[in-house]
Amino acid sequence: MEVTAIMSLTSSLKAAGDIANSMLKLRDAAAFQQKAIELNGEILNAQNSALAANAAQAALIEEKRALEKQIVEMKDWARQKERYGLKEIVRGVFAYELKAGVEPPEPTHYVCTNCYEQGKKRILYRQPGDARSVTLDCPDCKTALRVVGAGVYEAGSEGGH
Ligand SMILES: [Zn+2]
Repeated sequence: MEVTAIMSLTSSLKAAGDIANSMLKLRDAAAFQQKAIELNGEILNAQNSALAANAAQAALIEEKRALEKQIVEMKDWARQKERYGLKEIVRGVFAYELKAGVEPPEPTHYVCTNCYEQGKKRILYRQPGDARSVTLDCPDCKTALRVVGAGVYEAGSEGGH
């Protein structure tokens, strides 16, 4: 796209140069006028091609910026994901848990396995349950893990029952 715009810019400039050269040899006012109109047309073409080349370059710069951002995010996620290990919270219910001793430290928490597999860290939030169970909700994909049984959910529990 950019190459095409630059090629048509080059050909427009060459055509404009040819017309200008031929005008120098003209003595007839009407013929001169006709060539002046052609020249204006070619200059307009050249301007349009220059604008197209600029737009194509701007699009490439924008694309480069987006890719750089994506690389930074991927590197950041590669570091983040090492901080978690898969854990069976209760039989058949899985979440990624912050490993012990990671630096910098954070309070113990679980992240959503579904989002983790998609390269996203989404902390599961405890929803009020009854005396025997709690639900851990993902704010992103809306996964809801129901955890039944006393003492199965230690992180953030109110302790002692
Ligand atoms: Zn999720």
